[in-house]
Amino acid sequence: MSAKTIVQVSSWLILPALYVAFYALHVATNGHPIEQWLPKWDRVLLILSIVVLERIYTYRYAVSQRAMLPRDLISNAVNLWVTGVLATMIFLPVLAFFPDYFFGRKLFFASSEQLGPLWLQVPVVLLIVSFARYWIHRAQHEVQFLWELHSYHHRVTDLTAANGLVSHPIDFALRNVLIFVALGVVGFHPFAILLAVSVTLIAAEFSHCGADVKGWLLNYVFVTPEVHRWHHSADVPAGHKYAVNYSVEFPLWDAAFGTFYLPGKGTAPEQPPRIGHPGGLPDEPSYLKLLLAPLGLYRPVSRLKRPEPAE
Ligand SMILES: [Zn+2]
Ligand SMILES: [Zn+2]
Repeated sequence: MSAKTIVQVSSWLILPALYVAFYALHVATNGHPIEQWLPKWDRVLLILSIVVLERIYTYRYAVSQRAMLPRDLISNAVNLWVTGVLATMIFLPVLAFFPDYFFGRKLFFASSEQLGPLWLQVPVVLLIVSFARYWIHRAQHEVQFLWELHSYHHRVTDLTAANGLVSHPIDFALRNVLIFVALGVVGFHPFAILLAVSVTLIAAEFSHCGADVKGWLLNYVFVTPEVHRWHHSADVPAGHKYAVNYSVEFPLWDAAFGTFYLPGKGTAPEQPPRIGHPGGLPDEPSYLKLLLAPLGLYRPVSRLKRPEPAE
C-alpha cells in the first residue's frame, strides 16, 4: 500500500479514533494531580495533535494563518486559563442566588437521584448543553451587540487548531462558560456531568481542525470540521440569513431548526471555497482591538496623538 493510499484511508478513520482517545483521556485523568501544575493539559495536547493533523492531511483551500500567530496564542491562553475562572466568579453567585432564595440551599435539587438514574442524566445534560449553546450562538449572530463581540471569531480566513479559541472573552464566556455554570447549580450527578461535558468539549475543539480529515457519518452526529467550515463561509449559503450550522457540538439542533447545511454527497461533502467575515472585513491581528473595539473602547493610536499646532 503506497504512502498516499495510507494517508487517504486514514483520513476517514483518524477523526473517530481521536474523538474516542481524547474522550477517554479526559474522563480517565479527571482530578489527576497533573491538573495542578498544568491545568487543561489535555486540551493543549489536543490542540497540538490537531496541528500535527494539519501537517499530514493538508487541506486544499488552506490559507496561511502565520501572520496571526501572536494574536492566536494570546487568545488561546486567555480563553483557556483566564476567561473560565473569571466568568465563573461572576456567573456563579448570580445563578446560585435562585436555589438559595427559593429552596434555601446551594442546588435546585437536594439529591442528584431526584434527576433520574445516571445513564439518563448523561443524555439529558448533553441535550440541555447543546440546545442552550445552539441558541446562544445563534443569538450571537442575530443580535447586533452580540454580533459585535462574536464577529472577531468570524474574521479568520481558515479554520486551524490555533484559532478555535480566538474569540472575545465575553463572547467566549457566554457560549462556553455560562451553561456549564448553570448546570452546576441544578444538581446533576458530578459523574454524569463529567461524562456528558467531555463529549461536548472534544467535539467543539475538533470542529476547528484545519486538516482534510473526513467526517462521513460523523458529520450528522458531531459538528466536524467539514460541518463547521460552512458556519465560517464568507458567502452565506442561499436561503440562509446570517450563517448556517450554529450548533457547537451536535448538528441535531441545526437539523431541527432548519439551519443545517452540508451540500454534496454524504461521503464527500462540498466545502466552502472561502472562509471569512460575511461582511468582507479582513482578519484582525491586534488582540487589543479584539478586546476593546466591540466595547467602543479602542481608539487607534494615531487618533490619540495631540494635533499639530497650526502654522
Ligand atoms: Zn459563529
Ligand atoms: Zn468557529
